[in-house]
Amino acid sequence: MIDLILTPRYLEFRDECRQWLADHKPDGPIASMDTPEGFEQHREWERLLFDNGWSVPAWPIEYGGRGCDLMEWLIFEEEYWLAGVPGRVSANGISLLAPTIFNFGTKEQQDRFLPRMASGADIWAQGWSEPEAGSDLAGIRTRAVLDGDQWVINGQKTWCSRGAWADWIFCIVRTDPEAERHRGLTYILVPADSPGLDRRPVERLDGEPGFAEIFFDDCRVSAENVLGEVGQGWAVAMAAAGSERGLNLRSPGRFMAAARRLTDLARRIGAGGQGIDPRLRDEVTDAWIRAEAYRWQTYHTASRLMDGAEMGSEASLMKVFWSELDLELHATAMRLLGNRAELTGGAPDCVDGAAWLDGYVFALSGPIYAGTNEIQRNIIAERVLGLPRR
Ligand SMILES: Cc1cc2nc3c(=O)[nH]c(=O)nc-3n(C[C@H](O)[C@H](O)[C@H](O)COP(=O)(O)OP(=O)(O)OC[C@H]3O[C@@H](n4cnc5c(N)ncnc54)[C@H](O)[C@@H]3O)c2cc1C
Repeated sequence: MIDLILTPRYLEFRDECRQWLADHKPDGPIASMDTPEGFEQHREWERLLFDNGWSVPAWPIEYGGRGCDLMEWLIFEEEYWLAGVPGRVSANGISLLAPTIFNFGTKEQQDRFLPRMASGADIWAQGWSEPEAGSDLAGIRTRAVLDGDQWVINGQKTWCSRGAWADWIFCIVRTDPEAERHRGLTYILVPADSPGLDRRPVERLDGEPGFAEIFFDDCRVSAENVLGEVGQGWAVAMAAAGSERGLNLRSPGRFMAAARRLTDLARRIGAGGQGIDPRLRDEVTDAWIRAEAYRWQTYHTASRLMDGAEMGSEASLMKVFWSELDLELHATAMRLLGNRAELTGGAPDCVDGAAWLDGYVFALSGPIYAGTNEIQRNIIAERVLGLPRR
């Protein structure tokens, strides 16, 4: 049995977040973070959050946080998404890399990287995937060879989100080609302006240059930038992957906000005089229930983690659930909108500035990034259900 009633302390915290966000919400929408101008606008928003102590509330105070517990962080995330303020351009850094720096970084690395990450002075991108190594991440071929106190990197990364403008890239590279696949890897933090590093933007389905391919040609990086031990990159990466799939990257607030917008859309369409097909009404209800279910499941998980439990393979269950939920929420909105669903922003009769279309196109990628859902189902089959390996 767990007690999910918010105590007065949590309610007070919720009101404080809510008030600050209402007072500081930008007057209008800002450009997409997957465009050069939107990237910088989002960086300014990160700075405002940081200056007011809301950038990384769960981090220790010495690194710009408020020392919040997991419940407070979930409450903050709910309020954040429900307020409709800009998304987090620093998400890859604060959600994926930071937990790894806290776990594996030296004190010097923590002091050097975390405050600048929290303030948006350094925006980080994730350089893991390669043309022949996505699901099979241990197949990474980008090589790094030690030369004095520098690593010399050669190879290619791909699908690097916002890698075209990020200040730093956290990479996994092969440092021992003789070792067994998972053992010869090292985690290294690479300044994006390093000589020998070339980044080429790749246009996405929505037309925005949100991805970059990264090419390393004798790119030299200080040996101080290795995170964890040389050869320990797989363990470091898997700790980060747990953050990506589980709580950190996709908290329930994001989906609760989308579920509320969906019910609002259904009400507005219903009030328009044509009524709503009862099957669609059921779909809206179902999507809303699933968003609430994800919320309560997450609070359950959080309270177990606060009691000392570990996340483990449960992160894969959460990843499949949130990515399919996001798709369901947006696909339902598209069906509700009917012929108007495909109208792009600015078109006459376009609803909500095409936010549903943009959200739907992005939701399609949810079952792919952070480890595909097929791979997550393999993990669930083997490690949660104990089924035999294929
Ligand atoms: C929006 C988006 C953002 C991304 N951002 C980043 C980023 O910032 N940094 C980064 O490094 N990467 C990023 N990626 C890349 C992402 O991590 C990879 O696309 C993903 O890991 C899958 O790898 P792949 O594309 O090479 O597909 P593949 O691994 O080639 O898989 C192709 C298909 O085969 C299936 N498959 C493969 N192996 C198995 C198996 N053993 N059993 C069952 N099915 C299998 C997969 O599920 C998939 O359906 C991003 C991807 C997307 C879509």
